[in-house]
Amino acid sequence: MNSAEATSAPKTDAPTLTIAHLYPELLNLYGDSGNILVLKKRMEWRGITADVREVHVGDTPSFADVDIVFIGGGSDREQKIVCDFLLQQKDELKAYVEDGGVLGAVCGGYQLLGESYLMGEERVPGLELVDLYTDRGTPRIIGNIAIRSDICEHPIVGYENHGGRTHLGSGVKPLGEVLYGQGNDGITGFEGCLWKNVLGTYIHGPLLPKNPGVADWFISRALERKYGKGAIAIEPLDDTKELAANKVMFDRMLASRKQED
Ligand code: GLN
Repeated sequence: MNSAEATSAPKTDAPTLTIAHLYPELLNLYGDSGNILVLKKRMEWRGITADVREVHVGDTPSFADVDIVFIGGGSDREQKIVCDFLLQQKDELKAYVEDGGVLGAVCGGYQLLGESYLMGEERVPGLELVDLYTDRGTPRIIGNIAIRSDICEHPIVGYENHGGRTHLGSGVKPLGEVLYGQGNDGITGFEGCLWKNVLGTYIHGPLLPKNPGVADWFISRALERKYGKGAIAIEPLDDTKELAANKVMFDRMLASRKQED
């Protein structure tokens, strides 16, 4: 041991990110909870401690020391139950988002971010975290989807199944441009939203295993917010398998589009 090593403090200060996973028992359509496993693994592979906290119905969560909030998708019935609980946390969630808190929301969870969403004939108030709202349309939008987004190099691929049609306010950027499938409303050609450090999307599958660039967007945004820009480098990982899965799915969509043409 040299003198520099002898005097250096033991490494007990590994970076840590806390993930609040909201209502996994209700909002877990098409494997949405798998997104949390991906975030956790990709942090651990880089020596970042992942502290995952599940928030269940009846809990009163605090977002003060949380670095990533994640909400999955669900049926209309489950979405409504969650919305009633989350509306009680609206101010705290709003403060979290305004402070740059990182938040990922899929499908039903994405619809909850807005001013309101239509459930049957009923317009249900949303969390008003992002300037968007959701109507309904028929038929349901069901099928594979691929989009091109500025947040990552590869296309984002997955599966969508929603009756909702989501409309973004003029200041809100879409997550990406639809290459295959329908996205927010089947008309504009846009999918999802990006607002501050909030990412909303209709993409299930789950979203993150085949889209490692999206997973790393969440991790890098959260590290930057907590530790400061450039303080902790996000090491590249070997994504050969993840990107092979991404490519298989993307190629399948391209092939079926060719058949449709
Ligand atoms: N219940 C919502 C809809 O149908 C969301 C569904 C989902 O999360 N897949 O629009």
